Amino acid sequence: MIVSLLCDVEAHAAGLCRPEIVRLPGSGPVLLLAPHPDDEVLGAGGALCKHLQSGDSVSVLFVTDGRLGGRGHGKPLELAALRQREAIDACAALGGATCEFLGAEDGNLRPLPTLVSALREVILRVQPRLVYVPGFDEQHRDHVLTSALLAEAWRLDGGDWTVCAYEVWTPLKPNCVVNITRQMEQKRAALRCHRSQLEQLDYLHAMEGLAQYRSALIPLPDVRFAEAFWRSTPQAFTCGLERFVASQRAGGGPPPAHAASTQ
Ligand SMILES: [Zn+2]
Repeated sequence: MIVSLLCDVEAHAAGLCRPEIVRLPGSGPVLLLAPHPDDEVLGAGGALCKHLQSGDSVSVLFVTDGRLGGRGHGKPLELAALRQREAIDACAALGGATCEFLGAEDGNLRPLPTLVSALREVILRVQPRLVYVPGFDEQHRDHVLTSALLAEAWRLDGGDWTVCAYEVWTPLKPNCVVNITRQMEQKRAALRCHRSQLEQLDYLHAMEGLAQYRSALIPLPDVRFAEAFWRSTPQAFTCGLERFVASQRAGGGPPPAHAASTQ
């Protein structure tokens, strides 16, 4: 039994490799699914700046309304309206991303058919070649469910776009990494647009820390900040999500973090 395990681990270890250093994970049109206003900047703000600088169209779809995102801003729907304005400002600061809002209730996102239909309509309209979405093992229910909405939309309609999973609350196991050193100031500026959120937590500090950590994956002296992603086919992403959920249901150890076949 132990010998078999060691052999399996050895085979697994033999397949390990460093993430690929890419200028961008793919080309546009780009669609990013953000569970809440601010995830678009935290997870992929640098890459989105690069896309826009390259002439790619970038559409950001905000899934929930962010009404639970903090104290001191009146009633939940007033905060939702404020966060929508902040999101619009942030998308402009990234370099001109377009944005739209599904309006699901923050903290109570459910995989309703109406939401799946709305997402399918957006995909049909945007015709993305690259879709950014939170990693499915994020430790936040709205983030996990956002990735599930995308998987369900693909299951129903298919599509040959590339999925690019990003990290916010839970570092993922990346297979590609993007140097965002030159985009970092713009990413900071975009994050500062989410003023209501910066009052709750020093997201600038946290975001910088993650980007600095990820820069170690690009061992060049002038690389100071990076964003890491798990790039896959929609099929591999859906398969990974299914395996992740099954492993969690079985209660067995750490999830097979992004262990499905990669692209
Ligand atoms: Zn979020």
